[in-house]
Amino acid sequence: SAMRNEHTKRTKTVCTYCAVGCTFDVWTKDRHILKIEPMHGPANGISTCVKGKFAWGHINSPDRLTKPLLRDGESFREITWDEALDIIEKKFKQIKADHGPDALAFIASSKCTNEESFLMQKLARAVIGTNNVDNCARYCQNPATMGLQRTVGYGGDSGSIADIEKAGLILMVGCNPAENHPVLCTRVKRSHKHRGQRLIVADLRKHEMAERADIFMRPNPSTDAVWFSAVAKYIIDSGLAKMDFVNKWVNNFDEYKKSLDPFTLEYAEKITGIPAATLVTVAHEIARADGVCILFAMGVTQHCGGSDTATALSNLLLVTGNYMRPGAGAYPLRGHNNVQGASDLGSMPNVFSGYQKVDDPDIRAKFEADWGVTLPTSKGLDNHEMIRAIQEGKLKSLYIKGEDTITSDANAGDVGDALGNCEFLIVQDINFSETCRFADIVLPAAASLEKDGTFTSTERRIQRIYKAIEPLGESKADWEIIQLIANRMGGHWNYSHPSEIMDEVARLTPLFAGVNYDRLEGYKSLQWPIAADGKDSPLLFTEKFPFPDGKARFYPIEYIPPCIESNPEFDLHLNNGRLLEQFQQGSMTYRTPGFKVLSPSTFLEISPELATERGITTGRYVQLMSPYGIVRVQAVVTDRVQGKQLYMPINSVVEPVNRLTSSFTDRNTHTPAYKETAVIMTVLPEQ
Ligand code: SF4
Repeated sequence: SAMRNEHTKRTKTVCTYCAVGCTFDVWTKDRHILKIEPMHGPANGISTCVKGKFAWGHINSPDRLTKPLLRDGESFREITWDEALDIIEKKFKQIKADHGPDALAFIASSKCTNEESFLMQKLARAVIGTNNVDNCARYCQNPATMGLQRTVGYGGDSGSIADIEKAGLILMVGCNPAENHPVLCTRVKRSHKHRGQRLIVADLRKHEMAERADIFMRPNPSTDAVWFSAVAKYIIDSGLAKMDFVNKWVNNFDEYKKSLDPFTLEYAEKITGIPAATLVTVAHEIARADGVCILFAMGVTQHCGGSDTATALSNLLLVTGNYMRPGAGAYPLRGHNNVQGASDLGSMPNVFSGYQKVDDPDIRAKFEADWGVTLPTSKGLDNHEMIRAIQEGKLKSLYIKGEDTITSDANAGDVGDALGNCEFLIVQDINFSETCRFADIVLPAAASLEKDGTFTSTERRIQRIYKAIEPLGESKADWEIIQLIANRMGGHWNYSHPSEIMDEVARLTPLFAGVNYDRLEGYKSLQWPIAADGKDSPLLFTEKFPFPDGKARFYPIEYIPPCIESNPEFDLHLNNGRLLEQFQQGSMTYRTPGFKVLSPSTFLEISPELATERGITTGRYVQLMSPYGIVRVQAVVTDRVQGKQLYMPINSVVEPVNRLTSSFTDRNTHTPAYKETAVIMTVLPEQ
């Protein structure tokens, strides 16, 4: 009734701004969001940060897409869903007939639900017949996952967020949780201040937690693997290794010990710039601590040697016995709300849901029997390879869901050329993103408050979101759109609710065997692995590691120096990261009035030394040039950075840092070496 429409409604949801996974009730009246009320969520209790509490302007933004769009020359025109689906069906069928299924590729979203990630890979594999499917973890977290899978078997946080408080020592490496994971970081601040928890920070930049740290080290860029290994070697050589743990739980010690031979303290000091005495102090802190958690993020992963650095980090935890107990282990701090889930649910070129390999005949047979199809047998293309394959003319169609590729991937100029050359590009999003400008068809997707589903936070915690309001205009939930496309391509899918998709996931995926919507009702949640009886795993490793003999393994690595060209002309190192008030390139947060003025569009941090040398004061415009592009940006002189290192937030679409970044990648995972950028700086005339 009309009266009832006047009533307010409260709906449980999960924040979409970071992977901490804060939950709360959202109060709505019609389409108006009245307030956010935290209700003792498992990760956040009654806390939220500024983004979760206020940044909901994107839901009703005038920039929302409400109808499918078709390219019409240089502009777009609105079309009906039927017309859009007709075109997609015709083009997909034509490309598949002319060039085979591997001429099509699919990119799932770390913003979307688990169920939607599962359907995206099912569309690619079961309906189209290709393993060309990936998600944006490729840009950030894949090296972390690989380093952990190599050593301990699962790529996920070792314990829950609450367990971080139980550690004797927190080591933060290449991450900035005070801005990027605020509610999680509050726990560290509290335990450090009030409970004597030790804090060591290794970072190029003196961020808030570096200021608070007991020890702050500034290694030279791209050298973390060296000091991790040198500290491990010192610990072993000094008889401080936890050999009881190693002998019982870890294979390959002798080979690992030998691989550490080059990593002497002298060598480490030379490469990292950290004094040997500091490394010795750090080694003793780690060896002595009652539980060590290493929190890390893109400062570790986005390098040519990113996955090897993550491996060295995990080796160090193993040799010091820092797994299998609360308050110890590796915490790869995932960025997006569902970056963990997008990979967990199989939107990757080499694995189905739960990291089951596509080239394993038994696994494939299980999926083939359930889905009633024959599946492709070899690994598909990852995001990075898709861009190359378009340039080489091998890939004709790309379907991108909930990702602004052009402002996210490295080397924007190159990616733009590729997207411009793609024969048939579908972009599905809530707003008309920069990437939409390259699309042939744009599909309007529903926002998180407009659909049901689940997200998986950084602590492997699966939580439900509930529909609070109807999708705006003719936008639809991503799972519904994927199903419409699958059925046009002969999929015969019949999902009426995301819970049915999750039941299928549980049936096919041992990691999620006991997951279902009843067990996730309201504020209930489950941390994977989830046994068939519903028992979940706040602590990732308890009775064994997920290898055939139940033991973890040391995985020796070599140091991979940064792969930026050694052209001495490009004399400055450019680092990048996020801001508290913004999310990514701002396509969501900039839609909340006030957020844009809270923080400037972008800026460049310059050290006092460099500022003096070049005659730069705060507010002066400078131009940065790399071999790939140019940006103009305002300088901020600050001792957060030192020497010839510069820092720029990634939050600008006008002067995006990814115009400067190269196409070099981590050699194992193809994650862009975003943190290895060399530039020339010119001071622009005063305006
Ligand atoms: Fe959202 Fe992360 Fe802030 Fe929590 S900490 S409210 S999940 S942005």
